[in-house]
Amino acid sequence: MSEPVRVGIVGLGTVGSGAYRLLADSAEHVARHAGRPVVVERVVVRDLHRPRAVAVPPGLLGTDIGAITRDRSISVVALLVGGLEPARSMMVALLESGKDVVTANKAVLAEHGPELFEVARRHGRSIAFEAAVAGGIPIVAAIGECLAANRIESIRGILNGTSNFILSRMEEEGADYAEVLRLAQDEGYAEADPAMDVDGTDATQKLALLTHLAFGTWVPWGQIPRRGIEGIDLDLMTTAREFGYRIRLLAIAARAPGTARVALRVAPTLVRIGTPLAETRGAFNAVSLVGDAVGKMFFHGLGAGQMPTASAVVADIIDTVVGRAAITFRTTAMLEPEGPADSLGAADLVERHLLRFLVADRPGVLARIAGCLGEQGISIAAVIQHEAETESGAVPLVIMTHRSPAAAVNAAVAAIDASDVVRGRSICLGVIDD
Ligand code: NAP
Repeated sequence: MSEPVRVGIVGLGTVGSGAYRLLADSAEHVARHAGRPVVVERVVVRDLHRPRAVAVPPGLLGTDIGAITRDRSISVVALLVGGLEPARSMMVALLESGKDVVTANKAVLAEHGPELFEVARRHGRSIAFEAAVAGGIPIVAAIGECLAANRIESIRGILNGTSNFILSRMEEEGADYAEVLRLAQDEGYAEADPAMDVDGTDATQKLALLTHLAFGTWVPWGQIPRRGIEGIDLDLMTTAREFGYRIRLLAIAARAPGTARVALRVAPTLVRIGTPLAETRGAFNAVSLVGDAVGKMFFHGLGAGQMPTASAVVADIIDTVVGRAAITFRTTAMLEPEGPADSLGAADLVERHLLRFLVADRPGVLARIAGCLGEQGISIAAVIQHEAETESGAVPLVIMTHRSPAAAVNAAVAAIDASDVVRGRSICLGVIDD
């Protein structure tokens, strides 16, 4: 077998320890796939005294990334530090010193992707980021390589395991949001500060990366319309079920029919019971996509966690060692900053919507609401109104619309909210049937 390839690891937390363990425990298997032994030459962390989940030989561990950038024998580095800084500067330093980079950090790529891809290109290096999008699910390889012949029409993803765990537990156990969030934290599915998971930030950053890959469009993640799961209550779940749906936090990118424009959104969405997305439960992730040649495909697996994420990191290290990552990075036109610009912009999604209003229980209210919807050309498919239970006499009125552009629905809901018939916060969710 050839000379070993020497790799560096920066960050030895959850993912870094998993990658280190997999490289050590499966060394022979990895070497067979890489065509040569893959040896961890150096590991860089922040705090040398922190207890480690893996036993790293003395002398390998340090706190100075310069020990990697200056070491010419190291050619590949797994950068497994989270957040924006120092992760961004570290990645630049690694690329400038001639290292190929593998990373699981979606935040830094979603925020600084174009700059980092440019630095990599300038120095003839690659950035592989399978672990950053859907953890163990090989969606980056699928879109970037296996489905390269396809024009991608749409992507729908459950990209945040914490949110999915919370939504499916709420539904299965009839427990409310706060109760399940606490359980998710106790069981290790949710961070102590789960804000970026439950407010949709994490899924939106992943959607920005997927959109870049699939549609060649770089959309700053902050510009993608985003809503989290904090407002989802058990009543809404029960109503969704009455109509035959479950609620999932979906990240959607869809080409507007006949155009190059792509509509993007991250929001709780109704998915029909029995479809694979609706059956994706617990901390699992899923991606459903449509390619013009291949048709509909579905991917399902663990999108986070130590070993599923390490699986993607080590596969990317192998791809980098054998040269596949460099070829994909060089030839993937969609990673070019000058990707097809006409696909920028947020065309509108056209779909059914579930609307819930808390309204005054008096004559004429339904007619007023139907009037506002009618003015925007929205027709009603079904209405549910249960008898008043609240002391104020306000009742929830739930409407399922026929397929309508989201912009028209939003305008109608704004008009209804501004009227004197509404007694509380309205809710508007997209609905997916297939
Ligand atoms: P983590 O457990 O907090 O580990 C982070 C590691 O980075 C720690 O070892 C820390 O060193 C090191 N680090 C932080 N600042 C550093 C610095 N200035 N210099 C050197 N090392 C530094 O995080 P994680 O869960 O492994 O996540 C790592 C990345 O993977 C994040 O971008 C995350 O979003 C992504 N990711 C995580 C998962 C998952 O399931 N956890 C899944 C997919 C993607 P010390 O140990 O010395 O503090």
